[in-house]
Amino acid sequence: MPTLPHTQINAERLHTRIQELAQIGRIGETGVCRLALSKEDREGVELVKSWMEEAGMEAFIDPFANLVGVKRGSQPEAPVLMLGSHIDSQPYGGRYDGAIGVLGAIEVVQRLSEQGFSHAGDIEVVAFCDEEGCRFNKGLFGVRGMTGKLEADELDRADKNGLTRREALIQFGCDPAGFEGYSFREGRIGAFLELHIEQGPVLESLDEPIGIVTGISGPLWLTVELTGFAGHAGSVPMSMRHDALLGSAKIIVALNELVQRNPGAPTVGTVGSLAVFPDSRNIIPEKVSFTVDLRDIDLMRRNALEAELLSVIENVSMEHGLTYTIREDTNSEPRYCAEWIKETLREEAKEMGVTPPELMSGPFHDSLTMSYVCDYGMIFVRCLEGISHNPKEYASPNDITLGTELLYRAARRIAALEGGFPL
Ligand SMILES: [Zn+2]
Repeated sequence: MPTLPHTQINAERLHTRIQELAQIGRIGETGVCRLALSKEDREGVELVKSWMEEAGMEAFIDPFANLVGVKRGSQPEAPVLMLGSHIDSQPYGGRYDGAIGVLGAIEVVQRLSEQGFSHAGDIEVVAFCDEEGCRFNKGLFGVRGMTGKLEADELDRADKNGLTRREALIQFGCDPAGFEGYSFREGRIGAFLELHIEQGPVLESLDEPIGIVTGISGPLWLTVELTGFAGHAGSVPMSMRHDALLGSAKIIVALNELVQRNPGAPTVGTVGSLAVFPDSRNIIPEKVSFTVDLRDIDLMRRNALEAELLSVIENVSMEHGLTYTIREDTNSEPRYCAEWIKETLREEAKEMGVTPPELMSGPFHDSLTMSYVCDYGMIFVRCLEGISHNPKEYASPNDITLGTELLYRAARRIAALEGGFPL
């Protein structure tokens, strides 16, 4: 095992907290189910809030259910250095996704406090509400709220049990009425740094513990609904059917072929959720809705693929006598990390004796939204076999320590910038 360079952060405290938080909403030995705005989420927020206070921060929950910790600087008007990620999880998730970014950031601030580090602008640590998006079918809620980017119908989105986000927020202890009159002050945040597990196999394949992120390839999320006509599976001749599931199957196969046409490209396309009505073995499916997740770092290529997919949907619907609707749930463009932050990370890593490779992020993160209001940088930590959104998700303590140490060094250097942040 490679020896770890001498670290400033308190690795033991960090790992104890990671494992302690993992007990809230724990499923099985290593899994976590901490759905956004759930009882478990609230419990996690309370625990993390206590650690923020221990680290010398004032901590509060904002109207969007973000947990915010503030370490005051000497100049209240100076731009904020923000660090953070999320602590909500997928229903069948792991203990590292998001959590290491929040707990790593708290460790950074706690270390700075212990060292009596003085700085001009405030340093804030945020655990953003509902990054995952699985409960209300739309993610990055808290970070979009904080930065003034919520959409009109957002609070009316319901979960599987019919509970709306508005109701869930109230149950959580937040007042959506607090949204009114809230506006994000442009320029308030100078830079955002996020530490996160890679959730992919690249670092492991390179045998590297950490990586510097170059950008995030934003996803396009669609919900496609096909409608045909139900009939008896025993009596309606094949030539007379309007089978919505058969049409869906052809579209799903076509998507899979489209995204693989250019073998060198990082394009990915997935249908991960499908609902069949009436869902009976002897009835021809009348209605099918399924989701599409399409990602590429090259927006032109992604747009071209989207256009091709839409014509496939049109053609298949014609062929099978179906009608269709397509709803766009999310449409994010690729966003690139700030060059000066990447350079800071490279230099600080060199001081630590490591040379992290640079890689793109396929998954989106809270950073994606932050990129619209400030410069941002991300550090990836290797995870076992690239497994994530799965209880088997694992990142080693040494790798997390290394990533957090780099976060610490970069944060310290950026917070010390006298003349503010480079533009
Ligand atoms: Zn995450």
